[in-house]
Amino acid sequence: MRRRWPEIHRRLVAAVGAEPDVWFTEAPGHAVDLARSAAAGPYDWLAACGGDGTVHEVVNGLCRARFDDGRDRAVPSLLVIPAGTGNDFARSQGLPLKVDEGLQLLEAGRLQLRWVDAGHVAGRYFINVGGVGFDAEVAAETNRIGKRLPGAGPYVLALFKKLLTYRNERVVIEAGGRRLEQKVLLVAVGTGRYYAGGMMILPQADPADGLLDACIGGDLSRLGTLVLLTRIFSGGHQGHPKISFLRADRIRIDGPRHLHVHADGEVVGRLPVEFRVVPGAVPLLHPGPQ
Ligand SMILES: [Mg+2]
Repeated sequence: MRRRWPEIHRRLVAAVGAEPDVWFTEAPGHAVDLARSAAAGPYDWLAACGGDGTVHEVVNGLCRARFDDGRDRAVPSLLVIPAGTGNDFARSQGLPLKVDEGLQLLEAGRLQLRWVDAGHVAGRYFINVGGVGFDAEVAAETNRIGKRLPGAGPYVLALFKKLLTYRNERVVIEAGGRRLEQKVLLVAVGTGRYYAGGMMILPQADPADGLLDACIGGDLSRLGTLVLLTRIFSGGHQGHPKISFLRADRIRIDGPRHLHVHADGEVVGRLPVEFRVVPGAVPLLHPGPQ
C-alpha cells in the first residue's frame, strides 16, 4: 500500500482541495489509537487506507471515541479506501474493491452517508463477521505460528493443521428467546456477508438492519467441511441440512472454555461470550444504490 501512497495522496489532495493530515500505522493496534485521537479532532471525515485489519482497528477507535463513558459523541464519517488483499468489509458493504474505484467516487463527489451497524463482543467492536469454532481456532493457530513464516504461510499452515485436528464441539446458543444446544463446526456472527477472502458466510445479512445474522455450521465431517468450504463462496451452503441461520440483536454462546472467539478475524477471547449489535454505530461514506 505504501508503494501506492504518493499517487493516492496526490489524488486525495486534488479531490478535496486541501492537504490532509496523514498518519501511518506502525504496529498492530496502532490504528485504534490513531482513529480515536483523530475522532476528537476537527475532522468531518477520516479515510482508512488499508485492508480489513486496518478497517477493524479504525472502527474500534471511532466507536470508542463515540461511545466510551456511556455518552454518544459526534465522530467523523469513515471513508474506506480498500487496499488490502481480502477487502471483505468493502464487499459486505457494497463499496468499491479497488483503490482506484474508491478514489473515483470521491473525485466524482458520489458519496453519501450511511449509518451502518457494528457488533460488540468481549470488549471489542467489529464491523463484519466474528464467531466461534473452526475459523476462530484457525485464527488462534495462525497467531501461535506467528511471524516465523512470511506472507500467508502461517494462515495456510494453520488452516491445514486445523482441517486435520479440529473436533466439532457441543455449544449452547441463546438468541431471541431461543436456546439451541448442538455440536458445531462453527458459529459465525456478523453484520456483513463476506469473510475469509470472499466467502459469503452470511448471505442474508444486512449491515444496517440493527440485527446480527448468524450461521450455525453443524456436526459436519472433515470431508463434508471441505465440500462445504467450496460452496460457501457462492452462498451455496443455504439449504444444507446441517446448516442453519438465525437473526437477533444479542447472541450468547457457551461451551468448552478452550474455544476461542474471533471478531473480524482477530482473536478476542474464549467462551462464554455475548455478541450484541450496536445499531447505526458507524457513519460510513457510501456510493449508495448503484
Ligand atoms: Mg444486520
